[in-house]
Amino acid sequence: MFMRALVTGGAGFIGSHLVDRLVSRGDEVLVVDNLSSGVLEFIQGHIDSGAVDFHQVDLKDLESLKPLLNGVEMVYHLAANPDIRLGTRITDTDLKEGTIATYNVLESMRLANVEKIAFASSSVVYGENAPMPTPENHGPCLPISLYGASKQAGEGLIGSWVGTFGLQAWIFRFANIIGERGTHGVIFDFIHKLKADPSRLEVLGNGLQEKSYMEVGDCVDAILHVIDNTDERINLYNLGSNDTCSVRNIAAIVVRETGCEGASIEYTGGDRGWAGDIPKAMLAINRLKELGFKVNYDSEEAVAHTARVLIQEIMG
Ligand code: NAD
Repeated sequence: MFMRALVTGGAGFIGSHLVDRLVSRGDEVLVVDNLSSGVLEFIQGHIDSGAVDFHQVDLKDLESLKPLLNGVEMVYHLAANPDIRLGTRITDTDLKEGTIATYNVLESMRLANVEKIAFASSSVVYGENAPMPTPENHGPCLPISLYGASKQAGEGLIGSWVGTFGLQAWIFRFANIIGERGTHGVIFDFIHKLKADPSRLEVLGNGLQEKSYMEVGDCVDAILHVIDNTDERINLYNLGSNDTCSVRNIAAIVVRETGCEGASIEYTGGDRGWAGDIPKAMLAINRLKELGFKVNYDSEEAVAHTARVLIQEIMG
């Protein structure tokens, strides 16, 4: 089942792994990315081989986006501002890079008669104090970060395009996705801090934050597995692993893997890393498993694996 697929954010961390999978199964792939946090080298090999048609376009520019949708059969919409913390300082980034960008993607799809979209949403739409593990039907969803609000708005816009214009959608609420080519997040931050000063590691919060982590290969395999095995008008799936890992544990793993065993670990205190952070999160993944998908890495294995590959990438 080869198709012409458009990946927004395809030069990003998760997007580039998805592009690898789509290219290897023979899809014709267009990537739209403004390279704000994406890295062209991640997909340069595919561009050079002719397997990927790359367009450096900003999704906020509707007129440039529209013609790129012609002939596309499936949109994987992954582009967004990845930095949840940014919303504590700049309050319109998620609105523009999330909500408006998603509107532009949907409107371009409507004009070009493109019917299928997969969307990278997030566990943070569930907000605070959700039951753990959190099932897809938990509600009301009241996100506490501006990023979470933009993801919820994106889901709402997609639902409205399904209901009004007959689209078919797959909405994925991701846990924390980690792995090779990671360019942000707690493991990436810890390695950079230890590279700058191997004698100490500052940890935001009290370290008791506890979340589930999914390896990026598992994440993109799960996306494609769900799409291949579901056919509702809206297909909503949590993507995560079977357990959680605490920030204290992540700090210990990164200290061990970097060989900085003498580093003193210093906690800034408080129950969360920053305002709008959700200290404890774990998604119920029963629906994913019921489709016959097996997650390869549990959270701690994913953290250790990611620490090793990112140490190679960052420290050489
Ligand atoms: P990333 O920053 O590596 O990827 C985002 C990509 O989108 C980048 O390549 C960036 O250049 C591009 N982009 C951003 N704004 C754009 C715009 N206006 N126009 C065109 N391109 C634009 O981040 P990621 O971790 O790979 O995240 C991919 C998606 O998954 C995002 O939607 C993110 O919100 C979502 N998500 C990620 C995680 C995670 O743990 N990494 C968790 C939940 C949801």
